[in-house]
Amino acid sequence: REEMNIIQGALELRTKTVEVVMTKVEDCFMLPSDATLDFNTMSSIMESGYTRIPVYEKERSNIVDILYVKDLAFVDPDDCTPLSSITRFYSHPLHFVFSDTKLDAVLEEFKKGRSHLAIVQIVNSEGEGDPFYEVMGLVTLEDVIEEIIKSE
Ligand code: ATP
Ligand code: ATP
Repeated sequence: REEMNIIQGALELRTKTVEVVMTKVEDCFMLPSDATLDFNTMSSIMESGYTRIPVYEKERSNIVDILYVKDLAFVDPDDCTPLSSITRFYSHPLHFVFSDTKLDAVLEEFKKGRSHLAIVQIVNSEGEGDPFYEVMGLVTLEDVIEEIIKSE
């Protein structure tokens, strides 16, 4: 029954981690921080269909900002505005979670915070050097809700 599935899904939030529901970094639509908001870039943003777009510096694993599509409301593609001037102006906070965070904890974060997207990272302690944070993907409220209401 549908209700049982939803209850089951809700109970599983305590055991499932963000890693199993996130969108992997290689599948994320992101923009480089040195991008220009010209016609081509703005078209690709619109075509992607995403509302929140992570912005990376140099490497895709180095996410430094987030662009909301609504930030583009006053941007004229003919002005070729640097993306960085828009992200600096709005300067939305970035939220990070570790990949082993349980879904109930992320849901709690989403309910508290203003944002419904978090960047998923791990601590990489392989190799010789100091451990460092590595971006694995992103998770949104939608990914968590999908876990609750999905029917098997
Ligand atoms: P909204 O529904 O609020 O307009 P959206 O459609 O952009 O936002 P969500 O509904 O939050 O995104 O998420 C839908 C799916 O898309 C989720 O699986 C999420 O992980 C994924 N997703 C969200 N943003 C991106 C992005 N920039 N690149 C790739 N996948 C994304
Ligand atoms: P998003 O979070 O995807 O940017 P949003 O903030 O515009 O979208 P929601 O988060 O979907 O809107 O909804 C937040 C609350 O605002 C809900 O209670 C919803 O009913 C209400 N709401 C959404 N759009 C409008 C609107 N145009 N006028 C009045 N209330 C709205």
